[in-house]
Amino acid sequence: MNERAREVLVKAALDGVPQWFRGVPTTAGDRAKCAVIALSDAIPVNADIYTAYDLSRTPQRCSVCDWSATDEALLLIHLNDTHRFDFLTIARKVGGVSGDAA
Ligand SMILES: [Zn+2]
Repeated sequence: MNERAREVLVKAALDGVPQWFRGVPTTAGDRAKCAVIALSDAIPVNADIYTAYDLSRTPQRCSVCDWSATDEALLLIHLNDTHRFDFLTIARKVGGVSGDAA
């Protein structure tokens, strides 16, 4: 995950975008997004999130529970839904420089 992705997630947090967990809308209704939807909404409709954000297509280990995701997008969904990482936590902990994804 690249800096562009981190900026999108930080902006979502600063803008007060309510966050979905497990696809369940919060009381905020239509404005709510999970991390992957926030990323997807920030690029053109036909753009590829893997390319736009340099998401890895190789298996990724969850730093919390050691679960194996088939790629980085699935890891983001897992962190959002299973561990309820908020936008800022995902921005801070995923794909950081020099392997600080912990
Ligand atoms: Zn996990």
